[in-house]
Amino acid sequence: MAALYARQEAPENPGLRCLLCPHACFLAEGKTGVCGVRKNERGEMSLPYYARLSGAAIDPIEKKPLYHFFPGRKIFSAGFYGCNLRCPFCQNHHISQEFPGKTRATLPEELVEAALAENSLGIAYTYSEPLVHFEYLLQTAQAARAKGLKNVLVSNGYLNEAPAARLVPFLDAANIDLKSFSDGFYRRELGGSLDPVLRFLELAAGRTHLEVTTLVIPGKNDSPAEMGRIASFLAGLNQDIPLHLSCYRPMYRYTIRESTYRELEPLLDTARQKLRYVYPGNVDREANTLCPSCGELLVRRQGYRVSLAALKNGRCGKCGRQIAGVWE
Ligand code: SF4
Repeated sequence: MAALYARQEAPENPGLRCLLCPHACFLAEGKTGVCGVRKNERGEMSLPYYARLSGAAIDPIEKKPLYHFFPGRKIFSAGFYGCNLRCPFCQNHHISQEFPGKTRATLPEELVEAALAENSLGIAYTYSEPLVHFEYLLQTAQAARAKGLKNVLVSNGYLNEAPAARLVPFLDAANIDLKSFSDGFYRRELGGSLDPVLRFLELAAGRTHLEVTTLVIPGKNDSPAEMGRIASFLAGLNQDIPLHLSCYRPMYRYTIRESTYRELEPLLDTARQKLRYVYPGNVDREANTLCPSCGELLVRRQGYRVSLAALKNGRCGKCGRQIAGVWE
């Protein structure tokens, strides 16, 4: 499989430049990029993990999390290896930062067939970072679309604009992490930068169904001021973008204590001043959708249990307001 977004550098500086994500890695002969899945082999960009899945499972769509996209449905979910960020709290570090030997390939058409066999709504590209497998993602998304399946991306959004513009038209929904509104946090702790993620969100908003997740980490990104900036930015794109504020648990290299629902509450309030749909995540609480006009309970969620209380054809059953999202 030929890699996209790779360029030969000048003869006096032999090697390849990867233009897929903002790292713009320079790969000398035999070297691998930050993501671990793109490699200079004999002067060509090779994809040693092309079509190598870390796993696949049927998940509730709420697990992505997507709350305003076919609630209550299940989706065939495929995971990968590698990542272009280095989050020290990664929940999937065993597949994002570690690589197995050879695994069996699942070609795009095979993944599509597997999703169809499960009678799935579509395919979710998830678990570690799908975007660094851009070629596979694009091929599979096109094949899935042709068979009537939905494409769902769960990602850090750390991608250059040209590939993003090429991929987004094939996405039906995306949940993108906005891990902080501090460029310093992205640089110091994650090995990335904030601006490309904001550009990805701008590009995706209005072109696909978009939801956003922020993992709230004590002392790192949990100030009301920062939450206000996150909510203001998203509201500037669309006040209807659902925002998931997820409770953090110690994981991977972080030993910071877990965050509590009590700490989350004021941040939920702050975000709700700008956004219409803000949900707690990773916590034993209901995460319900209320009508922004009349307050009617529209969708009740407890864990992955969902009931469409008063949502009728995408509208509030009481006052008739159209509710943002893609419903059955
Ligand atoms: S996709 Fe991988 S190889 Fe390419 S620039 Fe990003 S981290 Fe580097």
